[in-house]
Order: sequence, then C-alpha cells, then structure tokens
Amino acid sequence: MPEFDCQETKRHVHEYIHNELSEQEIKEITAHLANCDSCETDYDLETAINQKIEQHCSEVPPEKLIDGIMERIRAIQAGEAH
Ligand SMILES: [Zn+2]
Repeated sequence: MPEFDCQETKRHVHEYIHNELSEQEIKEITAHLANCDSCETDYDLETAINQKIEQHCSEVPPEKLIDGIMERIRAIQAGEAH
C-alpha cells in the first residue's frame, strides 16, 4: 500500500471528513496530515467550512454564512498556515 502524497490527500480530504473512506485510507491520510502543513491547512479549511454550514444553514442567510467562512479562512491563513 503506497503512502498518500499531497495530491492524493487533498483529493480525499472531503471524503475523509465525511467518513467515506476505508480504514486503510483513513490511516494513510491521518498519517499524512500529521506530517504535512499544506494538507493540514486544507483539512482545517474544509472542516471549518463544514462546521459553519452545519451550525448555520438553517438560521443565517447565505451572504452572512459566506462572510463567516471567509473570516475563518483569513484567520487560518494569517495564523496557522505559516
Ligand atoms: Zn501533503
């Protein structure tokens, strides 16, 4: 079983968050995220967007939602992404 590279990991981040992968794939991605800042940032962004949508989809109009997501993305890029 080859290790996942960045391309492979980024392609599967969405399924990873939604638990749509095999146990082996989850292991590979978990290991890769632990060692790769670039993919970890992608994972954080995807998680943040998912949480925003889950928390607010029923109560907040879409423009507000997008504002919140952009704020979160800027915060991540300003901080942890370096
Ligand atoms: Zn990577």
